[in-house]
Amino acid sequence: MLLAVVSSCNTRDPESADIILLNGHVYTLTWPDPDVNGVPDSRAPFSDGKWRPDATAIAIRGDRIMWVGRDDGALSWRGAATRMIDLQGATVLPGLHDSHGHVGELGAALAKVNLFGVRTPAEAVARVRAVADTAPPGTWILGQGWDEGAWADRYPPAGMLSRAFPQHLVYLRGLHGFAGWANDSVLARAGITDSTPNPIGGIIQRTREGLASGIVLNRAVALLDAVVPALTVDQAASNITRALDSLARAGYTMVHDAGVDALHLEAYEQLADADALPIRVYAMLSARDTALAKRWTGRGPDTSTARRLTIRSVKAYYDGALGSRGARLLEDYADQPGHRGVSGSLYAFDTTVVAALMRAGFQASIHAIGDAGNRETIDFLDRVMQTASSTRSLRHRVEHAQVLTPTDARRMNELQLIASMQPPHAVEDMPFAEKRLGRTRVLGAYAWRTLRRAGARLTFGSDFPGSGISPWYGFYAATTREDTAAKSDDTIVPAERLSIEETIRGYSRWAAYATFNERSSGSIVAGRWADLTILDRDPFQSPPSREWLDSGAQYTIVGGKIVFAATAAPSAPAR
Ligand SMILES: [Zn+2]
Repeated sequence: MLLAVVSSCNTRDPESADIILLNGHVYTLTWPDPDVNGVPDSRAPFSDGKWRPDATAIAIRGDRIMWVGRDDGALSWRGAATRMIDLQGATVLPGLHDSHGHVGELGAALAKVNLFGVRTPAEAVARVRAVADTAPPGTWILGQGWDEGAWADRYPPAGMLSRAFPQHLVYLRGLHGFAGWANDSVLARAGITDSTPNPIGGIIQRTREGLASGIVLNRAVALLDAVVPALTVDQAASNITRALDSLARAGYTMVHDAGVDALHLEAYEQLADADALPIRVYAMLSARDTALAKRWTGRGPDTSTARRLTIRSVKAYYDGALGSRGARLLEDYADQPGHRGVSGSLYAFDTTVVAALMRAGFQASIHAIGDAGNRETIDFLDRVMQTASSTRSLRHRVEHAQVLTPTDARRMNELQLIASMQPPHAVEDMPFAEKRLGRTRVLGAYAWRTLRRAGARLTFGSDFPGSGISPWYGFYAATTREDTAAKSDDTIVPAERLSIEETIRGYSRWAAYATFNERSSGSIVAGRWADLTILDRDPFQSPPSREWLDSGAQYTIVGGKIVFAATAAPSAPAR
C-alpha cells in the first residue's frame, strides 16, 4: 500500500520510457558478423539480395535502451512524460564511432584559414589574402589543408608566401600534418636559415641554390609547430567543444582521439567533470608527450565509463606518410629509387615509453603506413606481448595498417591485433598511391578484404581533419573505392571493397570492440547505452551513389540525450 502511494507521488512512471522513437528503419546489428567475403549470416535480416530493418521502434529510459521492437509494442512503454518522436522512416543505426581522428586539431582547423581542396599555391594565397587584408601587421595567420601528397612533385616556389605576405607571420600546415609552408618571418622565428641542417627524420626543402624554400617535411614540421604561440587550457577546451559539436552533427556518438597531449587531456578532464562533452571520447595518450606518458605509466589506465571520457590507450608513430614519402617501405619507392622512408627510432618512436605503458595496462595504438613500418610495428608488439603476458589481452591496434604484405596481414590475426583503418584514405591517396608503390605493392594497400580474409579485426574512422568527417563519405569510400572528385570514376583495387554491412560494423560494432565497449555500444539491445545514429537515408536499401555524399544525420543520441537534431521540430537539441 505504502509503495503504491510513493509511486503515485512520483511524476516519472518507473515503467515508462523517457523517449520513444517510432516509424524508423532500425538495424540492430545483433545478428552475427558476415563471412570473410561479406556474405550476410543466415540470421541477418537479409533475403533475396535485400536488407530489411529488423525493428521500427526503440524505447529509451535514462541513459539506456529499455526496449526494441515494432511500433505497436512500443506504445505500452508510453507514460505521461514520454517524448514521442516520429522518425518518418529515417534509418537508425547503433551509435557510430569515428575510430581515428584528431579532435584538438579539428577544433583548431575550424578556427584557421581552410585550405582544404586548394589545387594550386596561388589558390592557397588567395584564401590567406582574404584574412590578411583585415589582420593587423605582425599577427599570426594560421592555415591548414593543402595536400602535401598531391603537391609532392610541385611544391610552391621559394619565397612565394613571403612576397605575398611580408607583414604577417604566415604558417600553412599540410592536410595530414606531414608538411608545413611558412613565410620568412616564421622561418626566422623557428631559427631556420639556409644553412640549418635537416633534423632527424625531416627535410628543410631548399632551392637549387641552397636557399630554404619555406617548405618543410615530416619531422621538420615540428620546428615550425614549436614557434606557434601555445594554446591555453581554455582555448584547447573550446577547440575540443567546437570539434565534438561538428562530430555530433555528422552523426557520431563516440570518437577515438588519436593522440592527446597533457594540455588537451586537462581540457578533456574539465569538460568531462562538468558533463559538457557532447559525445563520448576514447582518448589515446600521445607517447610524444613523455612527461604525460610517464605520469600515466605510474597511474595506470582510467577504464571507467561513468563519464564520457575513457583513457586506456597510447598513440605512437612508427613511420611517416605515403604521400610525402615518409612511410617506411621494404623496397625502394617506385618513384624514388634509393629511398625507403623513415621509421622506428629514426622517426622518434620510443620503444621504452610505449612498452612501459603497455605493461601498465594500456592498449597500444601505433601509426604504421609502409609495409616495413607495419612489419616492424607488428614485430615490436609481438616482442612486448611475448615478454609480458599481461599485455596480450589489451587489443592492440595498428593505426592505418595501410600497406601490408600478405604475411603480415596474417600476423595481424595471429596476434589478435586490430587494423584501425580509414576508408577515405584509399580514395584520397589514389592520385599517388600506385606511383609510390608500383602495381604489385598497391595490391596490399588499404586491403580491407584481404585483412578480413586473413581474420584480422577492423575498425573504421576518417583521420580528420585530414579527411572529411561525414560517415557517408566513409560508407561511400569503403563500398566503392571510387574517387569522389566529380570528373573521375577511377577506382583503387576494387577487389578490396566491403559490403555496406561490413562497413557499418567497422564504424559501430567493431569500433566498440576496439574500445572494450562491445557490451555497451555497437548494437541496439535493451540494457545498452542509448547511443544511436539516425540518418536521413537508408544505406542498406540504396546502392552506393554520389547522393550519399550529400546525406547526413537526422538525430544523434548519446546516453539517451539528443545531442543533435537536424530540425527543431519535433525535438530540440538537449544542449
Ligand atoms: Zn591520424
